[in-house]
Amino acid sequence: MSNPFDVIVIGSGPAGYVCAIRCAQLGLSTAVIEQNVNEQAQPLLGGTCLNVGCIPSKALLDSSHRYADAVGHLADHGIGVEGVSLDLAGMMARKDKIVSQLTGGVSGLLKANGVSVITGSAVLLAGRQVEVTDASGEKSTHNAENIVLAAGSEPAAIPPAPVDGDRVVDSTGALCFEAVPDRVGVIGAGVIGLELGSVWARLGANVVMLEAMDQFLPNMDEQIAAESAKIFAKQGLDIRLGARVTDVTVNGDTVSVAYTQGDSSETLEFDRLIVAVGRVPRTEKLFAADSGVTVDERGFVFVNDCCATEAPGVWAVGDIVRGPMLAHKGSEEGVMVAERIHGKAAQLNYDVIPSIIYTHPEVAAVGKTEQDLKAEGVDYKVGSFPFAAIGRAMASGETEGLVKILSDADSDQILGAHVVGPSAADLVQQIVIAIEMAASTEDLQLMIFGHPTMSEAVHEAALAVDGRAIHMVNRASR
Ligand code: FAD
Ligand code: NAD
Repeated sequence: MSNPFDVIVIGSGPAGYVCAIRCAQLGLSTAVIEQNVNEQAQPLLGGTCLNVGCIPSKALLDSSHRYADAVGHLADHGIGVEGVSLDLAGMMARKDKIVSQLTGGVSGLLKANGVSVITGSAVLLAGRQVEVTDASGEKSTHNAENIVLAAGSEPAAIPPAPVDGDRVVDSTGALCFEAVPDRVGVIGAGVIGLELGSVWARLGANVVMLEAMDQFLPNMDEQIAAESAKIFAKQGLDIRLGARVTDVTVNGDTVSVAYTQGDSSETLEFDRLIVAVGRVPRTEKLFAADSGVTVDERGFVFVNDCCATEAPGVWAVGDIVRGPMLAHKGSEEGVMVAERIHGKAAQLNYDVIPSIIYTHPEVAAVGKTEQDLKAEGVDYKVGSFPFAAIGRAMASGETEGLVKILSDADSDQILGAHVVGPSAADLVQQIVIAIEMAASTEDLQLMIFGHPTMSEAVHEAALAVDGRAIHMVNRASR
């Protein structure tokens, strides 16, 4: 057994590799263990996010948006475009190139910081020992003062719709269709369903989403979810709520999906079916029973607020622990754990994690929703402002949606912001900064926002909280 490391990180996704880099920056000798390898048995770093998640999906979202613009919207700007054609193989090659540039970048960063990369599948044993089995079956054992579990998550499965990787795929399969299917079914109208459903709809597929819940995007602010639903319907996404899939049958090149909706039942035919019903933590084979690590009933590793598990010196970060399954949440947990291992009392503010759906327009949120505040009995003020009244939005032809800001009725402190519209992700990030600085809506009211920018919608929404918006007629706050 070798023990040259202060810290061993299991998993090289955004939670693991960021933790490893910060540990190394702090002078800790650090190793990352990664089981994912390429055809040459070289480690494939970056986890779900870089390989089959955030990055490839955003590459396709961007490319498909440009294609849809060229086909459908440039004429609005007085630009005639003829002979637009789709080179799907080229689009996929671009996506793959971006992925390999970024995964190569992570490899370079780990190397430059002196982090060792060990290839193989790791299991945590008792006493902070880690057994690694490489692709050829060879085993080695390592230990360290601190172990960080960052094994991530994988797509959830549902019994009626087993994934076959061909006609019935999960998100990974939906990132690499070789041709645009005429008819795409999606089970689950959550973040992945909306993003990947949008990609294939923009490229010409007829997309139907079957969502089990009666409410669309139930964790979003209800007003923003309702506005988003209208926008997506106009884009041609057919989202059916309260739809329970009862049977999926593959018949050669097509898939039949039977579902019930209330008292009625229907069967639809698709060329491809995407199953996007959530993700589950990858913890089943991660540790031995006597390792001291415990999980909850859904398989998430038990941790305290600082990501320490119940086993001394063992930490867990990212998708395998409670909280939203978001790359930036995992990365910041990774940094916090590195700082804690180094002896600093670092903490995260879990109430201020932005979340974004990268459709067009984007849907983004941070902090409390209006329904949260009602449920908590908080006396609040609300201000909203539509992009239709923003000069820059009109100039860009991006007038759908609104910015909504919620603040405490007594202190005026900002409690949440919700945006559907152009640049929503970047606008919500402004509110992340504001909340972290304990700003009030008055602070935003007094700031000077550049003109003409989309950010003026944030300024106007903050003014609207007190009935002071300039470019619309103010109505009673609520
Ligand atoms: P992962 O990224 O899953 O990495 C875990 C790593 O650990 C993997 O490389 C795995 O091979 C390795 N591993 C697992 N077990 C072992 C073991 N026993 N031994 C050795 N190695 C092991 N989030 C966002 O914030 N923004 C987005 O836009 C976004 N888009 C997404 C789009 C899609 C299609 C998907 C599927 C996800 C998306 N996510 C997005 C979610 C994001 O990808 C995850 O939250 C994030 O990757 C989790 O990071 P992680 O480091 O916890 O785990
Ligand atoms: P999700 O939780 O966002 O959505 C899953 C949807 O499937 C839900 O609406 C759920 O009600 C529905 N569902 C569950 N079981 C069903 C069934 N049997 N029939 C029909 N509908 C069913 O999960 P996801 O879209 O799979 O994404 C997984 C995770 O990845 C999320 O936690 C998300 O945070 C993360 N992710 C983030 C981004 C981003 O930040 N932009 C993008 C993609 C994924």
